[in-house]
Amino acid sequence: MSEKFDVVVIGSGPAGYVAAIKAAQLGLSTACVEKWQDDKGKVKLGGTCLNVGCIPSKALLDSSYKYVETRDHLAIHGISSGETSIDVPAMIARKNQIVGQLTGGIGGLFKHNGVTSINGTGKVLGGTKVEVTNTDGEITVLQAGSIIIATGSVPVEIPPAPTDGDRIVDSTGALEFTEVPQRLGVIGAGVIGLELGSVWGRLGAEVVVLEALDEFLPMMDVQIAKEAGKILKKQGLDIRMGTRVTKAEVKGDAVEVSYTCADGDKVETFDKLIVAVGRRPLSASILASDSGVTLDERGFIYVNDHCETEAPHVYAIGDVVRGPMLAHKGSEEGVMVAERIAGKAAQMNYDCIPSVIYTHPEVAAVGKTEQELKADGVNYKTGVFPFAASGRALAANESEGMVKVVADADTDRILGCHIVGPSAADLVQQVVIAMEFGSSAEDLALTVFGHPTLSEAVHEAVLAVDGHAIHIANRKPRKKK
Ligand code: FAD
Ligand code: AMP
Repeated sequence: MSEKFDVVVIGSGPAGYVAAIKAAQLGLSTACVEKWQDDKGKVKLGGTCLNVGCIPSKALLDSSYKYVETRDHLAIHGISSGETSIDVPAMIARKNQIVGQLTGGIGGLFKHNGVTSINGTGKVLGGTKVEVTNTDGEITVLQAGSIIIATGSVPVEIPPAPTDGDRIVDSTGALEFTEVPQRLGVIGAGVIGLELGSVWGRLGAEVVVLEALDEFLPMMDVQIAKEAGKILKKQGLDIRMGTRVTKAEVKGDAVEVSYTCADGDKVETFDKLIVAVGRRPLSASILASDSGVTLDERGFIYVNDHCETEAPHVYAIGDVVRGPMLAHKGSEEGVMVAERIAGKAAQMNYDCIPSVIYTHPEVAAVGKTEQELKADGVNYKTGVFPFAASGRALAANESEGMVKVVADADTDRILGCHIVGPSAADLVQQVVIAMEFGSSAEDLALTVFGHPTLSEAVHEAVLAVDGHAIHIANRKPRKKK
């Protein structure tokens, strides 16, 4: 059997489903091939993000933070609520309900926009054809005008710590614990390790994070990473840098973890171990030998700035290509590619992609860090405002952290913003918008911010760039080189 579509998208994660909806909205006949099924044999749309990534992790982060808030942070407001307890199965069921609602919603959006949803495993053949194999092994070949590969990524497995789905788990397993482990080991102090470590740490687990690198959050601005590290350690996360796991073995009811650190070789025992050492693109296995699509040296599908692969009319977007592994990055690539297929001159601004760690407080960033600007020899200036000086943050009892803005010292253009503090994810978005419009620090400084808001901390940080902050003592501006 062979069917024809203007566009065939492989993968229904935030890159693929957005691309498919956009293509259909632009009048292109569109199919989206997704291999995931639920236990009733129904297609599961939404990819990593909706099923086992962004959404379920945030659901558990929100639940676990409400627990901590109730237990530890209400008394200061004069509120007492008796003994706080957590029903883990109820928390997981709430998470599953949200996932079900959202993934079902994608199915509804596909119907509404006329996207044909196909359940099966897709493979890119030569001549813009896609082979689809369903769970019964039946094969269909789709003839596409254009193909969009959006097959995403999977957790990296490391030989010293093979997952068993019970005691040693990846991020997906860590969203399904049925009780709070007493001692939890986490390999990797990256975004996922810190978020999932926080969930279970808040609920009472003793959490030890083992990280091979010496530097904490090396992709973040150093000042912000240092502050975030201090706050997370104060919350009880035992983050051990320079600690490389060499072996993890299930022994009875426990996991024995061997590691090497500055003090030599050590062994520790945990009830559960989360392996959170990064994700790898799902690329080679979806390409037939005649696909014409190539990979880069790290196994990502090779694409140019417009997400075109080396095969004509074949595009790739999201986690399967270079760039940050973030849902919104893939979605925007999906929009760009659908528009380009429809003949529009769309492009994407890779300099303006926000990233967030959803700990409490959140850590959020956009643009260049101070250390990157230093390395690039850029003449820059910085402004910092601590939440301890924000009336709104104090009122909310959320005064840890700071906002830092970096701007070009010659042109005044804002080059980046780095925040650790309350609602950092939403605050950084204000600077993303400003940067997208090419704002100078002065433009944002001249903007009226409502009072009392956390946003005022962004305003003050921007004012501080030129030594004009009102609610802190200003530093002398850096001299020009
Ligand atoms: P995916 O979401 O991985 O989707 C790919 C889809 O393709 C899957 O459904 C897969 O089944 C399907 N597929 C693969 N191969 C085939 C094939 N051959 N045929 C058919 N279908 C196929 N990002 C954020 O921006 N914010 C967050 O807060 C955040 N939190 C995260 C928390 C966790 C625990 C994890 C694991 C990830 C998180 N991420 C977050 C990352 C985010 O989930 C990914 O960046 C995003 O899902 C990538 O989207 P994608 O569409 O490229 O791929
Ligand atoms: P991320 O890629 O941001 O999710 O972070 C994963 C982290 O895991 C990286 O900082 C790696 O240095 C770390 N990592 C990888 N392998 C090991 C290991 N064997 N022991 C400890 N940390 C590791």
